[in-house]
Amino acid sequence: MTTNDQLFGRAKNAIPGGVNSPVRAYGSVGGTPRFLVSAKGAYVTDAEGREYVDLVASWGPAILGHAHPGTVEAVQQAAARGLSFGASTPGETELAELVKQRVSVDGDGPIEKLRMVSTGTEATMTAIRLARGYTGRDLLVKFAGHYHGHSDSLLAEAGSGVATLAMPGSAGITAETAAQTLVLPYNDLDAVRRAFDEHSERIAAVIVESAAANMGVLAPERGFNRALAQITQSHGALLIVDEVLTGFRVGSAGWWGLEASKVVPDGAGWKPDLITFGKVIGGGMPLAALGGRREVMDFLAPLGPVYQAGTLSGNPLAVAAGIATLRAATPSVYESLNRTASVISAATSDALSAEGVAHTVQRAGNLFSFAFTDTAPRNYDDVRAQDVFRYAPFFHAMLDAGVTLPPSVFEAWFVTAAHDERAVGRILDALPAAAKAAAAG
Ligand code: PMP
Repeated sequence: MTTNDQLFGRAKNAIPGGVNSPVRAYGSVGGTPRFLVSAKGAYVTDAEGREYVDLVASWGPAILGHAHPGTVEAVQQAAARGLSFGASTPGETELAELVKQRVSVDGDGPIEKLRMVSTGTEATMTAIRLARGYTGRDLLVKFAGHYHGHSDSLLAEAGSGVATLAMPGSAGITAETAAQTLVLPYNDLDAVRRAFDEHSERIAAVIVESAAANMGVLAPERGFNRALAQITQSHGALLIVDEVLTGFRVGSAGWWGLEASKVVPDGAGWKPDLITFGKVIGGGMPLAALGGRREVMDFLAPLGPVYQAGTLSGNPLAVAAGIATLRAATPSVYESLNRTASVISAATSDALSAEGVAHTVQRAGNLFSFAFTDTAPRNYDDVRAQDVFRYAPFFHAMLDAGVTLPPSVFEAWFVTAAHDERAVGRILDALPAAAKAAAAG
């Protein structure tokens, strides 16, 4: 048997850091990453043959559970018809129509047209180029701790792996590019108003995670997104809502849908100009998208002057996986995800409290995480001020007990519809020892 240690050793000689995405390297929690060979339902299996209950879910896409039979079958059938054509397929329109129809409340939604790409990074990168092309302006506003992928303009004070590695940004980005992104504190509307007072004629767009989930979970304060929509509109700028992580995960119509349908209070009555999707929309295959108002979307080539393209865009296997996943993600799936999230988050909080570990439960729909602090955070500075050191021992105690958590305190925990009583039971059994480890720090 080849061990995880041996595989990591070999990987490090062939791949920078041994990984193809930085957080996978366990940098902030230490130890050897598990090399996975298969996954089914709520479980993943590593190269040593050890099975874990998984709370990463491929960072979101595996909403139905890993290797969901309907999705796998759809991909197998698509594969048999051809892997990639570089031409239009009927499935792309079917998926676009499905997304338009799902992301609406009472028949009204923000998406008139949708363009498919392969990653969330491409979706947000294209959305900001489109916003600049449409408005003829150059500046972009983002919020500290929000992650929108790794394009040059969006890495300033970003969440996810950038937060995990405590990097201010990334080398290799020109000062000119960095200067075109204004980074503001989250949940601070005065800061947004001040930025517009100063640069009204220059701001092309505000980009925001619909509910922040890349600095741990941090839901917007009531009415924040709606206020952003009002401010951007009154200044002729666009609002780009990034639902790469929340879209089709926290509900059928994403976080926007929870606000529009008043499940989240004080949030109804607004629409983003552009909205980005990734993760669940591709059902575990590389697929992402941006959508929005017809007038703006038609600025994209071939109709308009903003160029964007992709050899594998709308790939037939990815489209098949996306359609199968979205069709299977029924309202009852979201109810079950909410219940599972409540059970696991409450049990984790109880276990931490029993050991006297100060923490807050961070929740946005079925997404949750824990911040090791006794004051509810509002923004990235607050999140960073927590007792970060408590997470590594907690993480490793869970791993030793057969539960894979995200290897960073700055990431959300992801449940799936396959987390049944047995899987949840294994998580609950592991919590007391993990909470003890967190208390010992
Ligand atoms: N936006 C958000 C909100 C995300 O969470 C992510 C990825 N975690 C991205 C964009 C980038 O997506 P991708 O990793 O597919 O490029």
